[in-house]
Amino acid sequence: MLIDSHAHLDSERYADDREAVLARAFEAGVGAVLSIGIGEGPAQMHQALDLCRQFNGQPGLPRLYASAGIYPHNTPEADQSALAKLDGLLAEPEVIACGEIGLDYYHEGAAHRIQQEKLVAQLTIAAARKRPILIHCRGTNESTDAWDDLFPILEAHWRHTGLGGVMHCFGGGWEQARRSLDLGFLVSFAGNLTYPKAQPLRDVATRLALDSVLVETDAPWLAPAPDRGKRNEPAFVARTAALMAELLAIAPDDLAAATTRNFSRLFHLPPGMGN
Ligand SMILES: [Zn+2]
Repeated sequence: MLIDSHAHLDSERYADDREAVLARAFEAGVGAVLSIGIGEGPAQMHQALDLCRQFNGQPGLPRLYASAGIYPHNTPEADQSALAKLDGLLAEPEVIACGEIGLDYYHEGAAHRIQQEKLVAQLTIAAARKRPILIHCRGTNESTDAWDDLFPILEAHWRHTGLGGVMHCFGGGWEQARRSLDLGFLVSFAGNLTYPKAQPLRDVATRLALDSVLVETDAPWLAPAPDRGKRNEPAFVARTAALMAELLAIAPDDLAAATTRNFSRLFHLPPGMGN
């Protein structure tokens, strides 16, 4: 069984065929999907949880889990009521993670200072609710500037919780991977691992231990090769997993078992937590 550790199932791009998308994932061996609850902003943060309630229990579909969080470029909307909403969502048993949260200096948007302040505010809420975090981190022109700001924040406001988290859609170098592991994080790879120019990323992946990795789609974005640019969906996580297994020189089944075990360990899920 595979787990897609990061998919935006609430995207409008699945409005017409969401159930069929989930059925295809199940057929491809995906037993669980972490449905990311950021919406287009805090007003839609609950949508991932709604999908859990809509689909869980139906045969032939993956088990859904949800997250909730305020994305870096939505942090100007992270007022008291949005943060209270986040706190309420994290209290729900299906909402196992806070994210994706973090720093994005790659795209123009929220001021870096606001991103940092609201990241800390969300870390405080996630810590009180004992939820691991899903971190999005991307620097200016792929430099390490966002990482250089992120790590001191996590050292000061997160390490002591011992809750850990996931470096989602990892795009850093070995130094950033090493520091993430040191903080007790898992490193999650998306479809961009399959892209021709991603050799530096594949080199990082090759060096990681089997007990520290996850695979994800980040669907509907980042479809793996050869579907790059098309709508992505959780079934395609199998392709990223196959490449990851190749890089680590193990059988695909062993990669699937290990990533499922890693996911269950981080979120303290019981055995048989998929469908
Ligand atoms: Zn995402």
